[in-house]
Amino acid sequence: MKDCIFCKIINKELSADIVFENDRIIVFKDINPKSPVHLLIVPKKHIPSVNDIKQDDLQIIGELFFIAKDIATKIGLKEKGYKLIVNVGEGGGQEVFHLHMHLQGKL
Ligand code: 5GP
Ligand code: ZN
Repeated sequence: MKDCIFCKIINKELSADIVFENDRIIVFKDINPKSPVHLLIVPKKHIPSVNDIKQDDLQIIGELFFIAKDIATKIGLKEKGYKLIVNVGEGGGQEVFHLHMHLQGKL
């Protein structure tokens, strides 16, 4: 998607601190962290927001949670706990209109 910051990161046109990637999902550090650990879990498919999720996307939406749990476990946040946040629309605080989940916590 032209002019989408996260699509540019996915296509490696823009650099980011990538911590995980597979064919469907990329995870990178938030450029302006609001907590000591602040990662963004992003489907590679350009879905603008939760409001645009289609039936065909359900597998990938499930995978966002699965990857979030795996990464939280790997970095040692599983026991302590962490936040998974999805902002929806301008009123919900969404600034980047490419669906993403924030993983926030403190080690
Ligand atoms: P939203 O408010 O849309 O839920 O969250 C967007 C997040 O993307 C913000 O926390 C912001 O700091 C982050 N962000 C915006 N532009 C960039 C960028 O170019 N690179 C990275 N790594 N994060 C970004
Ligand atoms: Zn995009």
